[in-house]
Amino acid sequence: MMPAPEDIYKNDVDFTTLALQYPDFAKRLKSNRQLDFSDPESVRQLTKALLHRDFDLSIDLPDDRLCPPVPNRFNYILFIQRLLDTTAPDFHDGYDPDRQVIGLDIGTGSSAIYPLLSCRQRPKWLFLATEIDDTNRNYASKNIAANHLQSRIKLIDTDMSGQQLIPSTELERFDRLDILMTNPPFYESEASMLASARSKSRPANSSCTGAPIEMIVPGGEVSFVSRLILESALPKNRSRIQWFSAMLGKLSSVGSIVDKLREKGCTNFAVTEFIQGQKTRRWCVAWSWLGLRPSMAVSRGVVGSSGVEKKYLPAPTEMEYDMPMTSMDGLSVAEKRVNEEIGKLLGAGAGVLWKYVHARRAGMLMSKEGDVWSRKARRKKLHHHDHQHHQAEDVDQEMKDHSVEQEDAEDAEGEGSNDEDELDKEPALVVRIELSTPSSEYGSSSNQAKTRIRIRHLQGHDRVLFESFCGWLKRKVS
Ligand code: SAH
Repeated sequence: MMPAPEDIYKNDVDFTTLALQYPDFAKRLKSNRQLDFSDPESVRQLTKALLHRDFDLSIDLPDDRLCPPVPNRFNYILFIQRLLDTTAPDFHDGYDPDRQVIGLDIGTGSSAIYPLLSCRQRPKWLFLATEIDDTNRNYASKNIAANHLQSRIKLIDTDMSGQQLIPSTELERFDRLDILMTNPPFYESEASMLASARSKSRPANSSCTGAPIEMIVPGGEVSFVSRLILESALPKNRSRIQWFSAMLGKLSSVGSIVDKLREKGCTNFAVTEFIQGQKTRRWCVAWSWLGLRPSMAVSRGVVGSSGVEKKYLPAPTEMEYDMPMTSMDGLSVAEKRVNEEIGKLLGAGAGVLWKYVHARRAGMLMSKEGDVWSRKARRKKLHHHDHQHHQAEDVDQEMKDHSVEQEDAEDAEGEGSNDEDELDKEPALVVRIELSTPSSEYGSSSNQAKTRIRIRHLQGHDRVLFESFCGWLKRKVS
């Protein structure tokens, strides 16, 4: 079976068609062809039918535990796919079918739905999962076996008291995990759970059969995810797991969680929204202590109406600008200038690399140390001799030669650069530069050819460094 298409749940599920294939589901359908979402058995049959039809998964669910709505859970899987696809260690952009990914699901539930969906969608992926409720653990392991995925999904031991969320000791066997995901218990008390159910026109279909351990945690989801943030920042976890993520059920939690991340010094994160039908909205925040940065579509994946305030979104990781070109040959001119200007940086210390692929009109620049372009950086280079770099003198001479250019803006001071020992090996900045000729806009008065330069921040914690580089290139090339 092929992976399900990303837009499979774009439109509401057609119950009538589904009923034709699934007799147990058909029995629950009301005479008006609608489903009674307040009836747990109806909701369970819907979930089972969808998992089977769309993902070739057969699962069994207990009557007294949470029943996961498939479209929402699938949304989270799509999000982590895109997140990982735009932050691959080899800068491969897009799905790489050969990449092995290891995921970890905290609180996998009776269905083990996240590992099951992930492994069906991506044949190379492996998953670990934890669960502290015995009933859920038993069902989860049966569901994994029923779908012959025991070799790719492992239920691992965790602190059964629920105090420690990340099973660090168990993870020591793995060099690196790619993604941690969790759908935390949402409510802080039984009272708030009931109040929320009452305030909705009909019970949230995912909550009608949830047991207290699944639904309630002291302090609610903000406290659960805040604990996760603190654990994620521990030395043993922060560089072992590339991405941490959590689904959130309340809009207000998004701001609290982003504030918490910023407080801990995290600059690399992503905020997204899951919309499913008119009634259910969920959010997801992902964060990393490492430097690989997701595309804008992933990291700022909230549409205008989502209600997430702009101030809670991470810094843009893409910039583009158009250069007006007088000659018809604007693209070649821009290409030449970009390569010339960047070429001048190459001698500026070890760890500046530039690889340009003419056929793609795209190049990748890496600067291990950070700023080597600003006037300030070059001045520093002149004054503090770097004894480790033998070409330093030549470089300084070259810098002198080029130091008289019209740099009007003083480059901003870099902030928040990483001071963690274990992160020192990461380059301070990696960008991809793409040149293109945008098709001229309809109705545009001038016929002038334009050349577009797009810069994508691929790696590095410091947004100011990225902005400074973009500004420098723009001045040089325009
Ligand atoms: N992932 C499933 C279940 C989410 S409900 C889904 O999306 O449908 C939250 C789950 O987390 C419950 O199954 C609950 O038993 C489990 N849980 C709660 N605290 C936990 C902890 N500290 N460690 C592991 N699992 C936990």
